[in-house]
Amino acid sequence: MKTLGYYNGKIDEIERMTVPMNDRASWFGDGVYDAQMCRNGHIFGLDEHVERFFGNAQALRIEMPVDREGLKALLKDLVARMDTGDLFVYYQVTRGGGPREHSFPVGKGNLWVTLTPRKVNDGLQPIRLITVEDTRFFHCNLKTLNLIPSVMASQRAKEAGCQESVFYRPGGRVTEGSHSNVHIIRDGCLYTAPTDNLILPGLARKHLLALCRGELNIPVREEAFTLEDLFGADEVLITSSSALIRRGCEIDGKPVGCRCPELYARIRGAVMGEYERETR
Ligand code: PLP
Repeated sequence: MKTLGYYNGKIDEIERMTVPMNDRASWFGDGVYDAQMCRNGHIFGLDEHVERFFGNAQALRIEMPVDREGLKALLKDLVARMDTGDLFVYYQVTRGGGPREHSFPVGKGNLWVTLTPRKVNDGLQPIRLITVEDTRFFHCNLKTLNLIPSVMASQRAKEAGCQESVFYRPGGRVTEGSHSNVHIIRDGCLYTAPTDNLILPGLARKHLLALCRGELNIPVREEAFTLEDLFGADEVLITSSSALIRRGCEIDGKPVGCRCPELYARIRGAVMGEYERETR
């Protein structure tokens, strides 16, 4: 074969391969990978790459569909089918498939392999470089598909018998939920994190703020608040476009909020009222 794609036992040239749309790679980037070079049909550093691959999968609690020796044997078998033994060997495991739900599906992961002809760079030609400030993992304002931290936090909430996790940063600043925005009410005022790079500017948040500033006449302050503020709040509100508004009653096993039932009823009424009007 000229190139090779493998997916859970199916094999073909890469451009003819398709994968199920509900693989969690496509919903959440929910997987880990490893890659290495192969020369003359010999995969370089196979043991150490496979070791790292399994370690990464274990750290993310992805159930492997093969064991280490099984994977090595599979990779060698796939390499033997190729027209050339000079290859780039890439493999990944994703956390199975299913409906788009952050928490984990039951069962083993999906194994992907690709083999593409490539010779290793000989290192003789000097290369030109640029500098880029390292802002990786500080782009929470973008709705990207790289959602593993949200997936892990969501699963922890589920396993704790809860519906959502609230993220905080070192120092205690509350940012947002794993798939929602978080707000508090204190002394009749709604506090919500400002829309900087650490939170997603949720559209349900935007509607809530507009309703507070408009028909509800509730003061709004877009200010960072802390875990201490969260635990001491009169109400803790959670918004997202899929579950428009909810209120928290417990965090980490401690009772919170639910001290202003009438105010919450007004807010909920306005949010649901707008939804029902717009979708009549
Ligand atoms: N924050 C995160 C991390 C989210 O994933 C989501 C929704 O998916 C939200 C906030 C809420 O955004 P929206 O109100 O636009 O649904």
